[in-house]
Amino acid sequence: MTQASVGADAPILEVRGLGKYFSVGGGFKPKRLRALNDVSFSLRAREVIALVGESGSGKSTVAKILARLEQPTTGQVFFQGRDILAAEPRRASLRYRSKVQMIFQDPFGSLNPLHRVRYHLARPLARHHRLAGAELEARILSLLKAVGLTPPAEFASKLPHQMSGGQRQRVAIARALAVEPAVILADEPISMLDVSIRMGVLNLMLKLKEERDLAYLYITHDIGSARYVGDTIMVMYAGHIVESAPSDRLIESPAHPYTELLLAAVPDPTVSKPKPLGAKSGAPQLIDPPRGCAFAERCPKVMAICKKEDPASAEIAASHHVRCHLYNE
Ligand code: SF4
Repeated sequence: MTQASVGADAPILEVRGLGKYFSVGGGFKPKRLRALNDVSFSLRAREVIALVGESGSGKSTVAKILARLEQPTTGQVFFQGRDILAAEPRRASLRYRSKVQMIFQDPFGSLNPLHRVRYHLARPLARHHRLAGAELEARILSLLKAVGLTPPAEFASKLPHQMSGGQRQRVAIARALAVEPAVILADEPISMLDVSIRMGVLNLMLKLKEERDLAYLYITHDIGSARYVGDTIMVMYAGHIVESAPSDRLIESPAHPYTELLLAAVPDPTVSKPKPLGAKSGAPQLIDPPRGCAFAERCPKVMAICKKEDPASAEIAASHHVRCHLYNE
């Protein structure tokens, strides 16, 4: 069996060659939809990796596989050196699920509207830490305080509809913290919130990372927020990681034509903008995808080889990887 990285600086979560295909169409000859192909990365304690891509790029599928809501078609996932997809006892799987928590895009949808905040936090605390009575109540209040919902006793008694979207997302974060996770998968956690409160939620996530040694996989379509929270940015297109690099490096020296396109569309005046690229619009063909680079139909720098061969990933500078024929030998 393949060995995971070990040692003091070993990743807490390591993903290797993840692929996910869905059968679509039914009948005698169902077609294959490629959601992910050859996705690999490592996440260390206190690190934030921002996974950026447009709708349908596969970024949420990565999160669902890591949360064990989906099974991959190929690949391996190691948590603290242990292959969590290989057959393992249910108890080990439960431990993984408590250590890797997910925060969803829609905080209202992720909370039961009939139950008060106290109920949502009491369940994981009772199940994972066997807390009850005064001890349980004290932990609930301490979690609410940690996510900035004060006075905590007042918030503990609220129903989801009695709070704002930002407050509901803070409850969702508190619920994830209740089981003392090591990794949080944050799937577009601010995209449904008012612009005015997004920054507060991002700053809370960063504060909790420092206080609790958390690592985040932060999933977003917004490269501006990816830059704000991410130590590393990975750009996804059509199920592939097409570019990854330390955040500042990726923003200042983007190499993949798709990353250049994303940055050109950022309205933030502090982000350097390459000239508009004139890329064609359109979606990649994910069902029975043709040979070659998935971005070829839209790419302003397309070459003959791009429609014949899949580009391999190349390291063009320290920790800066690009999947594009412009950088292949
Ligand atoms: Fe463009 Fe070719 Fe690079 Fe794909 S491989 S991004 S088509 S230049």
